[in-house]
Amino acid sequence: MTSTDNPNVLPDLIVLAAERSAAHKRHLAEQEAAREQARREHEAGERTAVERDAHDMVGFAFMGTLAQVVTRQMWQGYPSVDRPVWGELQPTAVAYLGGNTFLHYTATRTDEYVMTLLQPCTTCGARLEHRLWDDLELSVCLGSEDAPATCRDCATSAAARPAAPDPALCHTHELHATSRKG
Ligand SMILES: [Zn+2]
Repeated sequence: MTSTDNPNVLPDLIVLAAERSAAHKRHLAEQEAAREQARREHEAGERTAVERDAHDMVGFAFMGTLAQVVTRQMWQGYPSVDRPVWGELQPTAVAYLGGNTFLHYTATRTDEYVMTLLQPCTTCGARLEHRLWDDLELSVCLGSEDAPATCRDCATSAAARPAAPDPALCHTHELHATSRKG
């Protein structure tokens, strides 16, 4: 009689199963790495494309203003993001102009382009957003004296309260208070 009458194949089977399991894990890890690589390449492509589109739109619609000073390198692109409630948000590009002021560019799903100027409220620092269509809006936002420089809240409360005292008077008052103390 041979040993097949009383086989013990279990040790071999355990080795085979362990090899199989390790191969499966390797396969999953490779798939995950490939997905991650593809995602990174996709995002890099979106970033580059939206930076290029923003720059193109500046050259196309803002020849007299932005195109003179905003370079291709000033744009920082951000890839699209998928949000549970908002759905997919399109890629955006942002260019910093100095003075806490930014240009924001995005393309809508209907291939419309949205260029926005983001400025700080001069009173509270809240962000003011101006949709820009061409040089004219930009010149109204930045180049005219009656441009809205405060947010709606600050404009409302400024209109409601009496005129602020002259800062020079405040300063004099403080000096008096200090000299009395000393
Ligand atoms: Zn404000």
